[in-house]
Amino acid sequence: MNDKALQDNPLLDFSGLPRFDEVKAAHVTPAIDHLLLQGRDTLEQLASATETPTWENFVRPMEDMEEQISRAWSQVSHMNAVVNSPELREAYNENLPKLTAFYADLSQDERLYARFRALRDSAAYASLSATQRKIVDNELRDFRLGGAELPDDQKARFKAIQEELSTLSAKFEENLLDTTNDFSLYIDQADTLRGIPEDALQAAQDAAREDGKTGWKFTLHFPSYMPVLQYADDRALREQLYRAYATRASEFGKPEWDNTALISSILKLRHEASVMLDYANYAEMSLATKMAESPAQVEEFLQTLAKRAKPFAERDMQELREYAASKLGLAELQAWDIAYASEKLREEKYAFSDQEVKQYFPEEQVLHGLFKVTETIFGVHVRKSAAPVWHENAEFYEITDHQGKLVGQFYLDLYARNNKRGGAWMDEAITRRKKSHGIETPVAFLTCNFSAPVGDKPALFTHDEVITMFHEFGHGLHHMLTQVDDYGVSGIKGVEWDAVELPSQFMENFCWEWDVLRHMTKHVETGAQLPRALFDKMIAAKNFQAGMQTVRQIEFSLFDMRLHGDFDPHGSKTSLDLIEEVRDEVAVVRPPKWNRFPNNFSHIFAGGYGAGYYSYKWAEVLSADAYSLFEENGVLSEETGRRFWDEILAQGGSRPALESFIAFRGRAPDIDALLRHNGMTT
Ligand code: ZN
Repeated sequence: MNDKALQDNPLLDFSGLPRFDEVKAAHVTPAIDHLLLQGRDTLEQLASATETPTWENFVRPMEDMEEQISRAWSQVSHMNAVVNSPELREAYNENLPKLTAFYADLSQDERLYARFRALRDSAAYASLSATQRKIVDNELRDFRLGGAELPDDQKARFKAIQEELSTLSAKFEENLLDTTNDFSLYIDQADTLRGIPEDALQAAQDAAREDGKTGWKFTLHFPSYMPVLQYADDRALREQLYRAYATRASEFGKPEWDNTALISSILKLRHEASVMLDYANYAEMSLATKMAESPAQVEEFLQTLAKRAKPFAERDMQELREYAASKLGLAELQAWDIAYASEKLREEKYAFSDQEVKQYFPEEQVLHGLFKVTETIFGVHVRKSAAPVWHENAEFYEITDHQGKLVGQFYLDLYARNNKRGGAWMDEAITRRKKSHGIETPVAFLTCNFSAPVGDKPALFTHDEVITMFHEFGHGLHHMLTQVDDYGVSGIKGVEWDAVELPSQFMENFCWEWDVLRHMTKHVETGAQLPRALFDKMIAAKNFQAGMQTVRQIEFSLFDMRLHGDFDPHGSKTSLDLIEEVRDEVAVVRPPKWNRFPNNFSHIFAGGYGAGYYSYKWAEVLSADAYSLFEENGVLSEETGRRFWDEILAQGGSRPALESFIAFRGRAPDIDALLRHNGMTT
């Protein structure tokens, strides 16, 4: 590759916004190879330098390098996700392992670790800004957690553990997938299927036909499984599917797909690794990078929540039992009846459909409402702008402050289409940083998969989609409204895992606020606002069985926390014994003895949630409690908005999330607001 080609490579142009109209798959490998070669060069120089490390001669060049790699790569991975093609996918897959290897080497380079330590121990450290000190501290922490402080013989063992853990986690997930895929149930008798909605039946019929069979095919994949559990009147059918689902990857199936031994091995290895790093257990190690301070604090948090939620959960369960007995003839409510009876009860209590609600939320009105909330509480302006994009449906916006100064920009790509990954997410295109020429303003990608407009009708959003939009925009605001000058903790970078959902879930609250929401509605045909009575039903439906759902999340969280805490992975007590014990304390629904939930709890054994499942509830408490200050001061209070910006959004990861929260709220987080928002107050 000659210099001219590199100069013309749009992925290597960092002077402004990405040149999405020019980026081709053929640009990827030359750009990444070039950046990694340069990166290795930089790292080698930094690692072998002999002068005393300072921010300017050591950390800044490292951040410069990382910023360039991540800016180039974020364009590649974004396009791979939203305008996928065979060429792009190949380029992506070819380069991903190179990047992984590059960062693995960086994180294990003892010379770099020694340079960071030297910086921390030098006189220069005290003169760094608090933000810069935080970046150095985070680096030291991550090196330590990566085993950098271990003696050589232990280092090898530590590395072997990490490798084995990643193999075991992958195997756990594979087993679960294999057992899920392995099951299928063909049904020929139409009356067995009474109650199941038409679209689910259609899908089941198509699936059978694909296998060259007549009738209907059901599997354990969620979109096939769930409608049966929720709607099938045939109790035996529900039981059959429930049993298959609840015993996946256990001793009841093929021995080679049984996750029981994997659970035990994973727990032992995690425990061993944490003890090597001088933690009492894996739970403590997991919390080293989180907002929660100790396993005891998480335990207490969950216990407090359980105590408050359980009476409501019991009431929910009582209501369901009575309803099932009197209206459905289900005297004894079984595990496979819960979803079914709940659905019937929900329909009876709150009869409205998503379709009905959707007519009130045309795209333009929703976006206008979202931007209006943002403008009102933060005193900024959001307006459409222009930039090269990857697809004709993608749009570009800018946010300016009250003086007209640019704060941040974002791409908005709302509709589902072929070759676009499902789901909704926010990603970083450019991160805010202070550079020699001034501030580089942040840019975000906001991606959703809503239905595109049909004919001359605008796109219509369900209320869930409106909430999703607000949620992702909240992540976007965290990224775009940051005021941090240094890369490593700017925006969402360096924010603790259990606190990162605060701004996103915070924004969701506005979707349940009558005075905000009604202005976002305009019936697509009549132009009418959402009727208050329909809104009231939506609120009531939102809190339906909130008690039961809360204690279920607590059950999983306590199980996860204790399993990685006091639990002895070498002892005689099994994970099944433990979950039964937890259920004795908090659950209102008792699954059958043969239920093997731990064997398919992939969040904690295959995902990143080991000793971290509590984060869901933890972050909900933070966001609800933060929002409650707006409820006290007026939900569109500009003064409160300013404070939320200054103390939370602006700070990014530059200080602990708890400090930011207290600075905003004036006190530590409290669970009351969450319980109130979920209708769990007396
Ligand atoms: Zn989120």
